[in-house]
Amino acid sequence: MVDDEEAQSIAAHELGHGVAWEHAGLTVYKLEMSASFGGSGFCSVRGVVRGERGERGYLIGYGAGYMADQIWRERHEMPPPDPRTAGGDYELYQQELVDHPELVGLLSWDEAVAAAAPVVLAYWDVIEQRVPVLVDRHRLGGV
Ligand SMILES: [Zn+2]
Repeated sequence: MVDDEEAQSIAAHELGHGVAWEHAGLTVYKLEMSASFGGSGFCSVRGVVRGERGERGYLIGYGAGYMADQIWRERHEMPPPDPRTAGGDYELYQQELVDHPELVGLLSWDEAVAAAAPVVLAYWDVIEQRVPVLVDRHRLGGV
């Protein structure tokens, strides 16, 4: 189990994905978090509409979880996140490049994480507002 502080940073991570994918024009129907496996969370995103604009934004969305976690921890005076918490997202990002070779070279993983910062900050109010709700309910219908 994780304590409340850790649960909040996991929620911020998942909401980071959510706001970034919504920002990219994708529809996030459902956001779920689980704090049961090694302190890492997950979210499920449904009804993703792929498009020219969506491709880059989709890659940024993978990096946005780790970025949101970093910013959350900084602002709530917590130690920085363990980079291993981004491992699952990195694997999904890599799989995306395997499935869509046309995306290779578009955005490195580090660039995807960095590019997520302004997006996450633009929706920071939403993240702050939704974190306690996600921690409480473990799921949200959309962002
Ligand atoms: Zn993630």
